[in-house]
Amino acid sequence: MDLSFSPEDAAFREEVRRFIDENYPENLKGKLDEGEEWSKEDYLSWHRILGKKGWVAPAWPTEYGGPGWSATQRYIFSEELARADTIPILPFGISMVAPVIYTFGTPEQKARFLPRILSGEDWWCQGYSEPGAGSDLASLRTKAERDGDHYIVNGQKTWTTLAQHADWGFFLVRTDPSVKAQEGISFLLIDMKTPGITVRPIITLGGEHEVNEVWLENVRVPVENRVHEENKGWTCAKFLLAHERTGIAGVARSKRGIEKLRAIAATELDGDRSLIENPFFKRKIAELEIDLAALEFTELRGLAALAAGKPPGAESSLLKIKGTEIQQRITELTLEAVGHYAAPYFRGLGDSDNEHAIGPEYALRAAPTYFNMRKTSIYGGSNEIQRGIIAKMVLGL
Ligand SMILES: Cc1cc2nc3c(=O)[nH]c(=O)nc-3n(C[C@H](O)[C@H](O)[C@H](O)COP(=O)(O)OP(=O)(O)OC[C@H]3O[C@@H](n4cnc5c(N)ncnc54)[C@H](O)[C@@H]3O)c2cc1C
Repeated sequence: MDLSFSPEDAAFREEVRRFIDENYPENLKGKLDEGEEWSKEDYLSWHRILGKKGWVAPAWPTEYGGPGWSATQRYIFSEELARADTIPILPFGISMVAPVIYTFGTPEQKARFLPRILSGEDWWCQGYSEPGAGSDLASLRTKAERDGDHYIVNGQKTWTTLAQHADWGFFLVRTDPSVKAQEGISFLLIDMKTPGITVRPIITLGGEHEVNEVWLENVRVPVENRVHEENKGWTCAKFLLAHERTGIAGVARSKRGIEKLRAIAATELDGDRSLIENPFFKRKIAELEIDLAALEFTELRGLAALAAGKPPGAESSLLKIKGTEIQQRITELTLEAVGHYAAPYFRGLGDSDNEHAIGPEYALRAAPTYFNMRKTSIYGGSNEIQRGIIAKMVLGL
């Protein structure tokens, strides 16, 4: 198995690196490190720049606007984005609903929605989870009843990421309660401005407004906004979840996280030496780096298999578990490194001249990031669920 990159791959990497250097907006550089949050406009500005270049949807088929890259080029591209610490391209439109639309949608749905996802005109959110349906998603209860050429939707979704900005949402709804749970679900595209939709914030431990509850009361949705056949929504749901899990290991972003951690540990004092010189701390970083290197080679092995035409297997579950554990450990060690300076966290600091940060700037987001990253072992199919998949699919238990 050849895990090295070809000269063409190296040239491609160079091209991507140059483009990012020359085009990444100056005002976004280091914004999070300085304690500020990303706004909707921040996300959209980088989306539009990549969209104009034809690079915002690396995995899309060329006929819909994808760049026609190989799996290796896509990997290099994501590595370079991480290396430059760019704002992420949100997955809900580009890598979640779009593949469902171009795989299962009608020609009208493709023509209507795909160009607007590419350009960033429509912001999408994902309405899957409900208060009683997370890991056991098929037990969802939000119902859609036919009324002529409309569905009337009633129910509640939860944990809906960034729904406060969304123009459209893709929702799983129950269209037939009389059959087996998976067989009575449909996949609807819903305009978030439709009367009857209420989006309520859920403020997370880090103080952020990232997730929401979405209430649907007698929401009228045209039948033409259903993707795939009625009661075939579970097929779309499973297809989409496979897309959600790819790239979730976040190796390149974790490499960048460890670099930052090293820089912090080199600055922080531990008695009369820097923290990085403390053998116990040094060992923790080394263990993290070894685990990350092992994860990277596991990911590259998967990439080599994919490039050789083999389908992705249950290893995506393994990548998800190890990748998210590493992401969480980086935030734990960062918290440990900044110590008590992580405690005073003031939202919006920097907006006013009267308040000054207590401690170094890099400590500002250590605590909220630590709290925020607890989510990674829950979303995209919790890590316990992934272990269940490995037990069944890999170990045959
Ligand atoms: C920050 C964040 C953003 C999210 N964004 C979205 C979004 O945009 N749209 C959306 O639809 N959803 C979103 N989710 C929801 C996410 O998909 C669910 O939280 C996840 O599927 C887990 O479901 P749950 O929270 O209901 O927990 P439960 O399913 O109730 O699980 C509770 C605990 O039990 C464990 N467990 C459950 N079943 C099993 C089992 N069979 N075997 C072993 N252990 C088990 C779980 O691992 C977990 O530890 C988001 C979640 C978070 C945290």
